[in-house]
Amino acid sequence: MSRRHATVIGAGIGGLTAASALSRQGWTVRLHERQPEIRAVGAGIYIWDNGLFALDSVGAFAEATRGAHIGPAVEARAHTGDLLYRIGINGADQPRCYTLLRERLVAALMRSADESGVDIVTGSAATVVRPDGTVEFDGGGTERADLVVVADGVHSRLRDTVDLAYRRIRMTQGAARLMIPASPHYFPADDAVKHLEFFRGHRRLLYTPCTPDLIYLALVCDADDPAIRGSQLDVPLWQRNFPALAPLLDATAGIPIRWDTFEYVQMSAWSRGLVAFLGDAAHAQPPYLGQGGGTAMTNAVALAEAVSRPGRELSDALAAWERDVRPGIERTQRTSYRMRLLNSVPDRVRNPLLSVVGRLPAFTESQLAATRLRPTVTT
Ligand SMILES: Cc1cc2nc3c(=O)[nH]c(=O)nc-3n(C[C@H](O)[C@H](O)[C@H](O)COP(=O)(O)OP(=O)(O)OC[C@H]3O[C@@H](n4cnc5c(N)ncnc54)[C@H](O)[C@@H]3O)c2cc1C
Repeated sequence: MSRRHATVIGAGIGGLTAASALSRQGWTVRLHERQPEIRAVGAGIYIWDNGLFALDSVGAFAEATRGAHIGPAVEARAHTGDLLYRIGINGADQPRCYTLLRERLVAALMRSADESGVDIVTGSAATVVRPDGTVEFDGGGTERADLVVVADGVHSRLRDTVDLAYRRIRMTQGAARLMIPASPHYFPADDAVKHLEFFRGHRRLLYTPCTPDLIYLALVCDADDPAIRGSQLDVPLWQRNFPALAPLLDATAGIPIRWDTFEYVQMSAWSRGLVAFLGDAAHAQPPYLGQGGGTAMTNAVALAEAVSRPGRELSDALAAWERDVRPGIERTQRTSYRMRLLNSVPDRVRNPLLSVVGRLPAFTESQLAATRLRPTVTT
């Protein structure tokens, strides 16, 4: 029997994982990326248990996590440094959470796809996908597949070429991301290894060790906040907000930032005919739980498994995939979307509230539920 063929669109975290997983399940796979080369966008990334399982199932775990930081806790703090709540990670009976360089993650997924036999075509932009498995490309070419996986990101144009309704919310908040050199001057040694998020007014600053030499910073605020000026931070303004972090903010001077406004996407269905959507194209979420990439990878492996079970019609497999995986991913999206509200509450309300609520088991459970998502389909 000839092998089934899949076309995957988009070589981000979701598309690379889907391509590799399908190839490992016996499909022939061609992956199209519109950029001339595959590269990571952003700085560092949190990968929780669910994403680590997905990496393992495509044989990319060891390379992606080489040199990753494995911290003891995630802590929310007031701008003064006072602890609001703490979630233990990476200990016995605690979820794993590794922080790594995005470029290392993407390189590991690329190698995984390449080694499993995926045909990677760069500089190839898809323009239209059709439910019968036809894909049209810029320049006039077409391709026909038994399955088309669309993972073309939050700004997906292909979403508009199929007859599927979707909701896309462009949020008021976003984040400036950058890397700074590690230094013993930012925090005392036992704090320096933690993931620390500081709150002040409608601004947040997230400190994340990523490698022994590099710290990943994400500074969250409204898109029209004067604290971000083009591709630079207004460092003195951030220092006035977070005086305890002055040495850390000094290190950001002159380093260009990447700004992204947060988005939330929900599609009426994840597939139509032979076309399936995943990753930010289908289920983008603000990054407050650090799960957009993790859920993209988990979902990609689950899709490959669902459509590869012998003796099952593709339409049944896609229905089972969405039925099984979608509730967990949508719960994750909803929780992370709700977390935006913390930015709009005054400090005098948010800080005492968080220091009580943050200790409740139900709160910790809401933050960690997604870490238990697994890249498998049970029905
Ligand atoms: C500030 C911030 C922090 C984040 N932090 C985390 C975190 O800590 N942990 C986490 O898990 N997630 C995090 N995320 C979310 C994560 O980055 C995304 O969920 C993830 O990158 C989505 O992957 P994707 O493959 O769906 O899309 P993308 O990474 O956007 O990839 C889409 C790819 O498709 C290509 N493409 C687009 N159109 C076409 C076309 N027509 N033809 C061919 N190719 C095309 C693009 O060039 C791109 O390479 C964060 C996001 C932000 C904004």
